Amino acid sequence: MKTPVLYIVIPCYNEEEALPITAARMGELLDDLTGKGLIAPESRVTLVDDGSRDKTWEVICALNEKDKRFEGVKLAHNAGHMNALWAGMSMVCEHCDALVTIDADLQDDVNAIYGFLEKYREGCDVVYGVRNSRRTDTAFKRSTAQGFYKLMKKLGVEMVYNAADYRLLSRRAVEALLQFGEVNMFLRGMVPLLGFKSAEVYYERGERVAGESKYPLKKMVAFAVEGITSFSNKPIRFVTLLGLICALLGVAMAVYVIVSLIGGHSVAGWASTIMSIWLLGGFQLIALGLIGEYVGKIYMETKRRPKFILEEYRK
Ligand code: UDP
Ligand code: MG
Repeated sequence: MKTPVLYIVIPCYNEEEALPITAARMGELLDDLTGKGLIAPESRVTLVDDGSRDKTWEVICALNEKDKRFEGVKLAHNAGHMNALWAGMSMVCEHCDALVTIDADLQDDVNAIYGFLEKYREGCDVVYGVRNSRRTDTAFKRSTAQGFYKLMKKLGVEMVYNAADYRLLSRRAVEALLQFGEVNMFLRGMVPLLGFKSAEVYYERGERVAGESKYPLKKMVAFAVEGITSFSNKPIRFVTLLGLICALLGVAMAVYVIVSLIGGHSVAGWASTIMSIWLLGGFQLIALGLIGEYVGKIYMETKRRPKFILEEYRK
């Protein structure tokens, strides 16, 4: 196997404080990896400025002036973490044999990349970085994140537990991923759909080196909702189920109401009102769920996901 050209893609949003430290660390890493002959000298670090409002782009430009191994991609506006990753991957795909995506804050242990490359050499197209523990996260972040993974599993979404967006993808895995036509992107759910041979590398997650989290609670909630609604129709099914339960209760109510009516214990008008509330409510929810099913289908269609992902074609 030839020495791979590795690209390290780093999304940066207002990371002027963390970037110099991260870049220095990445520079050392590239030196060491090239020195050991693990990656080709054409390997690069691609910094994607996700419409930052601070001096991030200036920092990136200065890095690029000093050392051509650092490339910069500047997005015109804040497109969000997933889109920044997507942009970076689309830009470098044709130049690399494999790429690693990692956050700009060095929370993920860069030494795991040695493990990633080893698995890549063994023939894996996807290598997930998996957190050993979440000691450095706040109790709140830890419990919400774990609750989220459990919920996704219940909803039938295949995801690697505790794997964030720190991973290695081979070129063909990136090419396959880039075929996904969806605009609402949830990479953690999409990568397992590729189906290529994969492996996991465990690492200890640390603290942010500088600056503060770019994921406030609001973005975290949006991220979770995105993950659920992009991958699962189950919430719609839940509405249908609710409708069915309501309608069944309605039938039980109807029996009770009729019995009361015959027994002469009811006020005039009560029977018809109560029955229509329960039965109509139930039918309406069922109808909503049914319409939802179709809307869900349309939604999935609009994603234009590839129907298959080719692993090999021998002629
Ligand atoms: N990020 C981005 N665009 C955004 C928000 C975040 O590119 O709109 C980047 C950010 O610069 C960092 C990564 O996504 O490299 C993860 O963000 P952060 O470390 O703040 O998230 P946390 O680790 O707190 O979940
Ligand atoms: Mg972070």
